[in-house]
Amino acid sequence: MTILFASDLDQTLIYSQKSMGESVSEDDLQEVERFEGKPQSFMTKKSQEALHQLAKQIFFLPVTTRTQTQYERVTGIYEGEAPPRFAVISNGAVILENGQPIKEWSDRIREQCVSKKTIVEELLPKIDQYFSEDWVLRVREADGWFVYLIIDREKFPVEKLEFYTKTFKEIGWSMSLQGRKLYFMPESITKAGAMEYVKHRINATYVVAAGDSLLDMCLLESADLGLLPAHGEAVQSHAIAEHIEITEKKGIKAGEEIMEKVMSISRKFE
Ligand SMILES: [Mg+2]
Repeated sequence: MTILFASDLDQTLIYSQKSMGESVSEDDLQEVERFEGKPQSFMTKKSQEALHQLAKQIFFLPVTTRTQTQYERVTGIYEGEAPPRFAVISNGAVILENGQPIKEWSDRIREQCVSKKTIVEELLPKIDQYFSEDWVLRVREADGWFVYLIIDREKFPVEKLEFYTKTFKEIGWSMSLQGRKLYFMPESITKAGAMEYVKHRINATYVVAAGDSLLDMCLLESADLGLLPAHGEAVQSHAIAEHIEITEKKGIKAGEEIMEKVMSISRKFE
């Protein structure tokens, strides 16, 4: 029996100082990312130990919206241990195998995006049309796959989010608001699709998935068991299927709770 643990990283397993919630003593924290010379992301030491332990028993698959450069900054997660064989990055547009992108996978995704006209060049004029407001600080492209805006949350009109979501869905783009980032993702680029590819490659028979945002919902839905942190964007705005459990704790402690849960599942199947 092969168990696959497919998990989002940011705000699911790893947390910034800002997103970790309740204060955790420095001694309990493990830095997993440094950016521009400053510590950027953390896990609790307990979570990291559990992950290292677990990786010996089940197949761990990181599934993140980070680009390859951004993902390669968080290899502190595996400190002292071998990194996992596969990693899903760029929200599923790219799958790394032993650190190298699988070309035929990305080529297939690119073809789908082109045929549905959900490519960055088509999106940018629409962004200009709808988002000339002063709360848009920057427009960022992620390796030509998708777009995100860096926004000023104080000025962002939350009441318009539903309208924007509907408008962009009609032209094939999913939206997700995560902290200061507002994502626009082609509907062909999904975490679930990439997870299914890896699941077949390794012949996994049971999938447990974890993730906090709307971009994670398809991943949780296609798993046998989904774990959703209580602080997640998806908790308020999405119908939750029966096989998806919401954690009791929030912030970095929700990350710990997820690891405990996965540990107990792996023991059950031993
Ligand atoms: Mg996340």
